[in-house]
Amino acid sequence: MPGTPPKPLIAGNWKMNGINAFLQELVAIIETNPAPKADILICPPATLIAAMSELTQGVPIAIGGQDCHPAPSGAHTGDVSAEMLADAGATYVVVGHSERRAALPAGHGETNAAVRAKAEAAWRAGLTAVVCTGETEAERDAGRTANVVARQLAGSIPDGATAENLVLAYEPVWAIGAGRIPDAAEIARVHDQMRAALRTRFGPETGDRIRLLYGGSVKPDNAAEIFAVANVNGGLVGGASLKAADFNPIVAAANG
Ligand code: PEP
Repeated sequence: MPGTPPKPLIAGNWKMNGINAFLQELVAIIETNPAPKADILICPPATLIAAMSELTQGVPIAIGGQDCHPAPSGAHTGDVSAEMLADAGATYVVVGHSERRAALPAGHGETNAAVRAKAEAAWRAGLTAVVCTGETEAERDAGRTANVVARQLAGSIPDGATAENLVLAYEPVWAIGAGRIPDAAEIARVHDQMRAALRTRFGPETGDRIRLLYGGSVKPDNAAEIFAVANVNGGLVGGASLKAADFNPIVAAANG
């Protein structure tokens, strides 16, 4: 029988947005959340990680990267390793976001195997990996959602996952930045499937404690409804994480 649900996590993914002026948004998030019941994570571009880690010293907000290279260092021009993210103060890293799984040149063509290698790199560096899954609109229309998510889960998550080193996100690609979301029953179906897969692979105790985030057009006006769905333990928030005025009410919706 499942025990107490895991503590919610609200994660903001700033994507390729954010210059130093954005630090004022972080300050506003810090000021509004001196003792949040939910965990809070912000993943800014790599250029802001050190400054944001500095600003969040002693406050309950974690900072994460948006990607990492599988290798710890070396001849990989333009890449950032998990160790470098940790060195800059990050404690989490998102891997396998659909914008990185997408084909070149806009995306990076990342396969499940590549995502798995990045998650392993995250663990090697002591970071928690936020592994993203989710079907495209065409896959959904073809009735392949369950199959796609199952393959991503099996292929992208390394052996040895724990509730401390892994967060799993379900982000239907067609909902990202689109202003539309699956209905509660659809979200519940995929999250129940993910929970069952984690229980089978990592044992019921670990499987029940790994946090499952929903992502894709989470906004202040739909957050409470999404977070009320069984096996949704928080959200991965893109556009609405860029402004404290949008992000704070989403955190409030998870504070219960
Ligand atoms: C995302 O890209 O992870 C995301 C959830 O974006 P948005 O909230 O803007 O849909």
